[in-house]
Amino acid sequence: MRKIGALEAGGTKMVLAVYWEDGTEIERITIPTESPEETMPPMIGFFRRHQVDALGVGSFGPLELHPEAPNYGSITSTPKLKWKDYPLLKNLLDGRDIPAKIDTDVNAAALAEATMGAARGCGNTVYVTIGTGVGGGVYTDGKLLHGLVHPELGHMLLRPHPDDPNPRGVCPYHESCMEGLAAGPAIGARVGGDARDLPDDHPTFAIEAHYLAQMCVNLILTLSPEKIILGGGVLGRECLLPMVRKETLRLLGGYVQSTAITEHIDEYIVTPELYPVSGLVGSYLLGKQALEEAGE
Ligand code: ZN
Repeated sequence: MRKIGALEAGGTKMVLAVYWEDGTEIERITIPTESPEETMPPMIGFFRRHQVDALGVGSFGPLELHPEAPNYGSITSTPKLKWKDYPLLKNLLDGRDIPAKIDTDVNAAALAEATMGAARGCGNTVYVTIGTGVGGGVYTDGKLLHGLVHPELGHMLLRPHPDDPNPRGVCPYHESCMEGLAAGPAIGARVGGDARDLPDDHPTFAIEAHYLAQMCVNLILTLSPEKIILGGGVLGRECLLPMVRKETLRLLGGYVQSTAITEHIDEYIVTPELYPVSGLVGSYLLGKQALEEAGE
């Protein structure tokens, strides 16, 4: 059986694995993300040692994802400056001509959840992770959505909550965007410290749920997903998800008449099933797709 290499490239760590084609994992390693000079050689060595037959990568971005672009698979305008304009896929392949595919880490996670996780059987789903940042992947009509660049759901603009003491948010690019208002650092800025120590009934969690619900409403109205999957460290606060479901229904105001939402919201806005390996499994699936598309 053939081997598929998978990399989930994150801002703090790189998770690499090799799978048999049927999805059985052979080996997995984690390497801290430093500069390309430090981090790339052990990654290249790992895939070389296993002689992988295909490679799938889910990476932080933004990324160049047009297959015809000369810099396909490069990280582009990332704030992680050492990786700016870095040809990640090309250098990982290290001159080997094997089928390979790259996508955003969140698109990879969306693919994994839609294929074998919380949205199994759904042709349309959205995966959003809310942690130190916010990122989202979109799976639509059985394919990952790229469009002009790729979705950047984390920076959609929201209406500030009237009780938010920091309605501008903390994103350096935008006033009142999702990441700037609702990612971990935004919560920290709002409460002036670590929100983990606060009780569930602290007002900041109602504000947080309101922002997550606004995002869900926008996703429902624009992409019409069959399921919304919310992951990431912020959702570790278990009181949030029920609040988000309730607030989503309130904000929708009964407008979208689907029983999936009106009667079964608990199964509609859900957490990922493959956490914490959604992105890694998605990277394996990208590699498998590349192998299949190459007709091998
Ligand atoms: Zn922003």
